[in-house]
Amino acid sequence: MDFDFTPDQLAIRKHMREFADREIAPKAQANDRACEFDWDIAKKIFKEGFLGCPIPEEYGGLGYDYIAYGLMTEEVNRVCSSTRTLFSVQTSLVALTILKWGTEEQKRHLLPKMCTGEFIGCFGLTEPEAGSDAANQQTRAVKDGDSYLLSGQKVWISCGSIATHALVFATVDPSLGHKGITCFVVDTKTPGFSAQSIKGKLGLRASDTSSLFLDECRVPAENMLGKVGDGFKIAMSALDNGRFSVAAGAVGLVQGCIDQCSTYAMQRITMGKPIGEHQQVQAMIADMVADCEAGRLLYLRAAHLKNKGVRNTLETSIAKLFCGEAANKAAHNAVQIFGGYGYSDEYPVERYFRDAKVLNIYEGTREIQKIIIAQDALGIRYANGTKTGAPTALAGACV
Ligand SMILES: Cc1cc2nc3c(=O)[nH]c(=O)nc-3n(C[C@H](O)[C@H](O)[C@H](O)COP(=O)(O)OP(=O)(O)OC[C@H]3O[C@@H](n4cnc5c(N)ncnc54)[C@H](O)[C@@H]3O)c2cc1C
Repeated sequence: MDFDFTPDQLAIRKHMREFADREIAPKAQANDRACEFDWDIAKKIFKEGFLGCPIPEEYGGLGYDYIAYGLMTEEVNRVCSSTRTLFSVQTSLVALTILKWGTEEQKRHLLPKMCTGEFIGCFGLTEPEAGSDAANQQTRAVKDGDSYLLSGQKVWISCGSIATHALVFATVDPSLGHKGITCFVVDTKTPGFSAQSIKGKLGLRASDTSSLFLDECRVPAENMLGKVGDGFKIAMSALDNGRFSVAAGAVGLVQGCIDQCSTYAMQRITMGKPIGEHQQVQAMIADMVADCEAGRLLYLRAAHLKNKGVRNTLETSIAKLFCGEAANKAAHNAVQIFGGYGYSDEYPVERYFRDAKVLNIYEGTREIQKIIIAQDALGIRYANGTKTGAPTALAGACV
């Protein structure tokens, strides 16, 4: 087992850290207050090519591995969860899905422009009646000549109002259950497609979240990703990558709490000494540090398996569950350490607290991750298809 990062991995982490501190952090609080997606920051991210981090160079990406991508994601989320959402959606949910399932023509057309931000993607799976129950898709795809007419509604779609292209999941025949679900790449300028931003969110306020409406939206059959009926498999494989970036982002949020709290705790004086010298405050910081290290190892293990091309649904679910919980606990304690000042948006920990909650809701709730993990442990349903998941790997490591 090698715990060292390569020079490339260290370089991208350093580059991203400096970029995040210079370009994202100074504006994060104001963007959150204004509930505005910051196009200036986005354009700088596009220019750096960060969105193509794990995409092969032949498709316009930087050609880094998943470890580098995870480290980069962590660095963004250390200062701003809203900005990290752009990475998770564009890179993990959309570009990597097109890379895995797209035809050569689709990849050549879409990926280079997704890496530069000329095309922005969104991932349209959730519907009013299909969140955790993702197989219950009501959006219909009706074949009409050489195209399909898509009709239905999606909710809670990150980047939905800023996207140029949407991955839309729709059923060709509801009676087929999940086997009827089919995935389409929809140009959002197509007549019949519209999006509406959702207002009043608890967190991720500087990230767009929208409802999508499809009204007999005509999509050429060649825009189908995979084959008819592949949609559910495509969605689940996309979530393997999406959950990975959520886990890495959650570790970044924990690191952000540690950074903020360790500075503040050595400045704020009570009872004649910095609060960082009070044992109960130290205990909260120690928990954050231990959770941060453990979460980082979990997402890096998933990254290692992804680099090897090994199925990693279980390991990614474990990372997503643990890191999401760790982020909520860390943000809760960070507000506590800041006392009354933590209760206002004068300090970033208030934003971290609000931004943390979604980490155990989207891309499969905390409860759904627990179902995946428990069913695997009990032998009811192996998350990786066979009994080759974490317990076996860990047992091997202990020998
Ligand atoms: C800010 C934000 C951004 C999002 N971005 C996207 C996006 O880009 N694309 C997209 O497709 N979706 C997106 N989502 C949707 C998100 O993935 C769903 O909200 C999530 O999957 C939960 O679905 P739901 O809201 O319908 O809750 P429900 O499925 O109704 O669940 C409600 C509660 O019941 C629990 N529950 C449900 N079923 C079970 C069960 N079988 N066992 C135990 N507990 C259960 C859940 O864990 C949860 O606590 C986003 C959501 C948010 C809030």
